[in-house]
Amino acid sequence: MTKNESQKIEAYILQHFPMTNRQFSQALEVTIDVVRYHIKKLGLEGQRKRGGIRRYDELVRKNYPTCSASILAKKLGITPNTINRIARQIGIKHNPDFIKAPYPIKENLVGMKYGKLTVQKQLGTNKWGQMVYQCLCECGKITHSTAGNLKHNHAISCGCQRKRKQKLN
Ligand SMILES: [Zn+2]
Repeated sequence: MTKNESQKIEAYILQHFPMTNRQFSQALEVTIDVVRYHIKKLGLEGQRKRGGIRRYDELVRKNYPTCSASILAKKLGITPNTINRIARQIGIKHNPDFIKAPYPIKENLVGMKYGKLTVQKQLGTNKWGQMVYQCLCECGKITHSTAGNLKHNHAISCGCQRKRKQKLN
């Protein structure tokens, strides 16, 4: 097995850790012995048997400083309170830089079209950590909207659509 393959297996194990050896073996298409070897190498041996919240320690240690508790909780399928409790127990804190600049936004809507709006560029995040986009309306006007408003069809024009409807009424 190459170093690259080992790294891939270990990254996958860390990311999906509370899974069983059998599930890992099927997902990674390797034997259970190979899974056991890497679990041991990562120091995760026995963590699952103990049950409770200990099995999340490593994941919280790795992700908590740069990820909000609610996002991490959703990822792991446990509550944000549990995440915060684990973080307190193992003595780690959010990175203060993270508080100022929220979690990285991977999605990019530039080039997408929502109603009459074509998304032109990312303008940065608002105080709630939502990405704000500059959009060009079909009428030629430039407008700003958050990703959420665009994706849930709350923003489908610069406002000209609404005005036209009112005129027609
Ligand atoms: Zn318009």
